[in-house]
Amino acid sequence: MEDCIFCKIVKGEIPSFRIYEDSDVLSFLDIKPFSKGHVLVIPKQHFENVFDINEDALQKVSVVAKKLSGKIKDVLKADGIRLSQSNGVAAGQEVMHFHLHVIPRYENDGLGTNPTATAHLPQADFEELKKIAEKLT
Ligand code: AMP
Ligand code: ZN
Repeated sequence: MEDCIFCKIVKGEIPSFRIYEDSDVLSFLDIKPFSKGHVLVIPKQHFENVFDINEDALQKVSVVAKKLSGKIKDVLKADGIRLSQSNGVAAGQEVMHFHLHVIPRYENDGLGTNPTATAHLPQADFEELKKIAEKLT
């Protein structure tokens, strides 16, 4: 998909802070994190959302999200992890390449029970993202 920002991240055409990578799955830091260590897990192949992703890719992405959830919880001392995923504009999907959000949550982090969109959030400081990426890789 030529115009897909996440396909460009997969190809290295735009920068990202990569946390995990194998032949099928890529994980990188969200540029507008809800919390420190908010990562996205995506299939390298372009699927738009849950409706068209195949089961094999979904399984691979889910397994990586599980492993990263444990790692992020341990390394960043999170109290919990929220996994979320939106399908279609009506559901709040902004980037049309399937992705799972892995969001560290902390007691009293002020995010409420259901953080949904990051559009209103500021872009994270790159030095800070770099430090988090170093801890998680
Ligand atoms: P969604 O609203 O579920 O489609 O989430 C899309 C996510 O992608 C948002 O949390 C954005 O902050 C994130 N995002 C968009 N562009 C980039 C980028 N270049 N690098 C990292 N994360 C991005
Ligand atoms: Zn794509």
